[in-house]
Amino acid sequence: MESPGKLRMTTQRQVIMEVLKSVKSHPTAGELCSMVRRRLPRISLGTVYRNLDILSRAGMLQKIDVAGQEMRFDGNTMNHYHLRCMECGRVFDVDMDLLAGVEEQVARESGFQVYGHRLEFVGRCEACQEAYKTRQ
Ligand SMILES: [Zn+2]
Ligand SMILES: [Zn+2]
Repeated sequence: MESPGKLRMTTQRQVIMEVLKSVKSHPTAGELCSMVRRRLPRISLGTVYRNLDILSRAGMLQKIDVAGQEMRFDGNTMNHYHLRCMECGRVFDVDMDLLAGVEEQVARESGFQVYGHRLEFVGRCEACQEAYKTRQ
């Protein structure tokens, strides 16, 4: 793993990080690419992907990677919980403290050395609840 200090911050990587940190929407690579293109019109989706991968391995962003779902990215690398809408696929931050003691409990029960945990809630966002109501 590259450490953030050693990673060469090209203009592309800098812009990608700035754009990602400026939104709370947990964009997909495609969504992020469109936003980055307002500043770097010639950047390709492949380049955005490659840089997202490098930045994520350097610990500068979080990949939100759920099987069967399009990968999303988060500029906030502190552990926090997410809410995912099963209708529109959007991901929201949950405003609550991390659960205390769960990692120790899992370590005790599994024999694992536990370094962290991720938690994602699934449901239907407010906009999709509205849409669902009007469809009835
Ligand atoms: Zn939704
Ligand atoms: Zn988040």
